[in-house]
Amino acid sequence: MSDERAERIADFIEPLRVKPGSRVHLGRDFDPRFKAGLKKRDGVELLRTGVSLLAEYQDRLAAQDTYGVLLCLQAIDAGGKDGTIRHVMSGVNPQGVKVSSFKVPSAEELDHDYLWRYACRLPTRGEIAIFNRSHYEEVLVVRVHPENLARQRLPEESSGPDVWDRRYREINRWERYLTDNGFKVLKIFLNLSEEEQRARFLKRIDRPEKNWKFSAADVLERRRWDDYQDAFSAMLSATSTKWAPWYVVPADRKWFARICAAAVLVHTLMDIDPQYPDVGDEARQALLATRRDLEREAPAGAPADPYSESASRRHGKKKHGKKKHRKHKRG
Ligand code: AMP
Ligand code: MG
Repeated sequence: MSDERAERIADFIEPLRVKPGSRVHLGRDFDPRFKAGLKKRDGVELLRTGVSLLAEYQDRLAAQDTYGVLLCLQAIDAGGKDGTIRHVMSGVNPQGVKVSSFKVPSAEELDHDYLWRYACRLPTRGEIAIFNRSHYEEVLVVRVHPENLARQRLPEESSGPDVWDRRYREINRWERYLTDNGFKVLKIFLNLSEEEQRARFLKRIDRPEKNWKFSAADVLERRRWDDYQDAFSAMLSATSTKWAPWYVVPADRKWFARICAAAVLVHTLMDIDPQYPDVGDEARQALLATRRDLEREAPAGAPADPYSESASRRHGKKKHGKKKHRKHKRG
């Protein structure tokens, strides 16, 4: 991988990163329509590059089996979380990825501490886990609708007005703990404008195949737009850290949001720079000895190694091998 390419990706995502300790005011600091001067046409090629880089790095991550990656996706309704996951992960081996969506907590989940259900879905080493909604709901929907907090049945001394600042601290420490133990945490906030949300809701109503995505509750949530923007701003200000940064991705243009999400993930993987394990000289010698044994086991007339170059060249003429099989089936 060229350092130049890594640098270009780092430069591309830098304006999206929330500087640790900065005070974010979403409406003022981040433009949902920003597209870095790109055209949709360039976007197709860029996303393709991003997706193939992701496939390559994910393979190395799995082979190295040392680090895991957790990507948290947050957004307002219709922000594009599902589509982002679908497109960005389209080239990646499904065995190496685990996607978890978090909904209203179940009775069992409410019987535990608030981070429990998220801890159950963390990546293993070598794996990329994606949280479609995440532990950040605990300082978003739970903050905007305090009845959610009441349902969590916290003891009185733990549910005072400082509960949000405490949660920010606890979340930061939890993410620090994960990072220190080899699990990289990165967070993407898809930043949608109020007007684009309106347009997407209309589409969900008009297209029968999108109706299932829409509920009357979504419109009620929309009425709380400003409260959510405040909760997002407070969350971004308090929980973007050096070890687990937030990226605010402009989301009004889906194609641009997808490129950004892919770039953020690729950047993290490049930073880890996972390597295929080197088995060492002794193990390599043992492999070569086994190889010679396997070659000696070739049946009469078969090449010692059917995949060797000279055998493959001969194989080019051997198309009738397939024909013979078909004849046999018919007969
Ligand atoms: P959706 O993502 O459209 O399937 O909706 C999931 C719903 O679950 C959203 O309305 C979220 O606000 C809600 N939700 C997610 N996490 C929590 C939580 N921790 N407490 C309460 N509601 C939640
Ligand atoms: Mg929904």
